Amino acid sequence: MNTLIRNARVIDPASGLDGTADIAIQNNRIAEIGQNLSQSPAAHIIDATDLIATPGLIDPHVHLREPGQTAKEDIQSGTLAAVTGGFTTVCCMPNTTPALDSPELVEWVRLKVEKSAHCRVFPVAAATKARAGQQITEIDLCKQAGAVAISDDGDVVQNPRIMQQILQACAHADLPFMQHCQEPELTKNASMHDGAVAARLGLVGWPRVAEEIIIERDIRLNKNIHARYHIQHLSSAGSVEILTRAQAENQPISAEASPHHIALTDQACALPDGNSYNTNAKMNPPLREQADRDSIIEAIAQGIINILATDHAPHTKEEKAQPFESAPFGIIGLESALSIYIQTLVKPGIINWPRLIEMLTTNPAKLCNLDRPHLGDSTLGQLATGLPADITIIDPHLQWTLSPDTLAGKSTNTPFLGQSMTGRAVCTIVNGTIKHTINPAFTAH
Ligand SMILES: [Zn+2]
Repeated sequence: MNTLIRNARVIDPASGLDGTADIAIQNNRIAEIGQNLSQSPAAHIIDATDLIATPGLIDPHVHLREPGQTAKEDIQSGTLAAVTGGFTTVCCMPNTTPALDSPELVEWVRLKVEKSAHCRVFPVAAATKARAGQQITEIDLCKQAGAVAISDDGDVVQNPRIMQQILQACAHADLPFMQHCQEPELTKNASMHDGAVAARLGLVGWPRVAEEIIIERDIRLNKNIHARYHIQHLSSAGSVEILTRAQAENQPISAEASPHHIALTDQACALPDGNSYNTNAKMNPPLREQADRDSIIEAIAQGIINILATDHAPHTKEEKAQPFESAPFGIIGLESALSIYIQTLVKPGIINWPRLIEMLTTNPAKLCNLDRPHLGDSTLGQLATGLPADITIIDPHLQWTLSPDTLAGKSTNTPFLGQSMTGRAVCTIVNGTIKHTINPAFTAH
């Protein structure tokens, strides 16, 4: 199927392109990008006037819950949620059952992806066996099997000696290490940010310092190792300070911000009556205060935080119906993320469109080595002749409501449900094929 996307505002951060153009797709690849391209006889036309066409969005932090937790999500449903939200590539975290802690399990995910995924999926392998923090996994072999990063996400690597060895192994394998920064002793029994709302609700608070001291420790451990160290879901203003300082010292450190941490504060954990809780606002790390939010947004404006990641974390209704303290941490994010980024970052003028797209394409591609050919896949995160046609078409002004029928995954645990949204992915093309569209006119006949 040949497709011609016409008259889009084409944004490609890798080449610096931001202008009106057509994109011709032939044999699943980008055949040409230019003005007034002539259509090949059998071309399917997508009129993208007033729409933005970008490289397919990449989310480096999602939980697809397979193997083992498929009541929450699986590779099929999670990647359907991804393409619904405009993502053509996701990296899935290893805190599955069992954990992705061997080359065989990484390979298992890749084979399952080939059979059932709606978009590209790259596994992140666990850093330690069973994510128990004791015995390092075979990081080189996991890379050969297809892992694009290493993480014990869900848990921090607590033992500094093990951490040091992991950083050395990641540096050797040229893989990024993604840390879930949570000092366990300081967060024991904690279920939300340690602030006024927790005090009022009578919940054990989760202090900022629990995140900050792990980052501080890891930076020092990494000083002479120079592994690529990536902070997952950064939540605290103090963490921004540490990150800023380390980058000024040219340390190889990056961080991601999640939609909920830039859009919400710990106030969202209390229901409107002020005294009961909303478990759909319970996450790890917790929603914090306005000053933390402001600081994360400022770090995005300055390019200190240069990656956006949903931390899409599906849980069943039954699990989230438990009392706040026993309900699991996490919210879904793939279907709503792009709108939240547009509303909190682009509309108020914090960053412009090319910068947003850079944070959702070239930067995560670079982090996970997807900017170079990988196990038979080509360069991702950019638009260029000859590359696979992974393209997201966005209506930047579309008004819509995040209702259950706009969610494609298995779970609905999001505090944004019922909210009005601005901007949406209206068409998601993976490897030349339309995997999602809300515009019937875009569907190929
Ligand atoms: Zn995490």
